[in-house]
Amino acid sequence: MKKTLYALLIGLAILQSVNLDFDNKIRIRSGTGTVYNISYAEARKQFHNLANNAEREDAWICLEGKCYDLGFAEGREEVEFDVEKIITLLNKRHPSSIKAIWVHPHPKKILIENFIYPPSLADVIAHAKLKRRLKEDTNTILESEVYDGKGVWKYDITTRLESELHTKISGPHGDSYPHRFMLELQMPGIKKEILRDMFLSRQERIERYIERMRRLGVILTYASLEINL
Ligand SMILES: [Zn+2]
Repeated sequence: MKKTLYALLIGLAILQSVNLDFDNKIRIRSGTGTVYNISYAEARKQFHNLANNAEREDAWICLEGKCYDLGFAEGREEVEFDVEKIITLLNKRHPSSIKAIWVHPHPKKILIENFIYPPSLADVIAHAKLKRRLKEDTNTILESEVYDGKGVWKYDITTRLESELHTKISGPHGDSYPHRFMLELQMPGIKKEILRDMFLSRQERIERYIERMRRLGVILTYASLEINL
């Protein structure tokens, strides 16, 4: 009898953990730890729909048929993550993976219609740091994406900017970055001149922004996505 009860309890526990993501639907969840078994083609559709409906950010890393929720302190315009946790996860569960995709949404509902919300300065720097750490401590190359509800931004940095940033980050001044890079990216002019210039079409603004970032060493691409994938 005891054995049956024990088995029943184990069964319920397993069922409960499965139930947690029974429909395997990626959601904004407070804290980390949720794992989704999902192809990247399917995850992409879900990230797009999520960016259309969510009101907070969250962050995931996707590789080898899984997406892990690694974001915490999920806010309207920010989310945090722990680099060490990501390194441990990759080394323990995916020691031979060669590519991982880091994803977060810029939720459309909280954004101003018609403005453009590409990866922010903080996003670019977070990508640079995380990519570097993965390169040093795992076999995995990092790619990063932002879903804004209308499409997907992919972003990366040139090897030149990468080493420039790395020298500054690990240099005597800690978290200082190349002056030129910081000034340009923080410049309110970029928002006014490009992202919010309503005399330009959305497509033109996106193209101009990509070109401006390219000169700084940030490689951006943007692909529009259908309303419902
Ligand atoms: Zn962002």
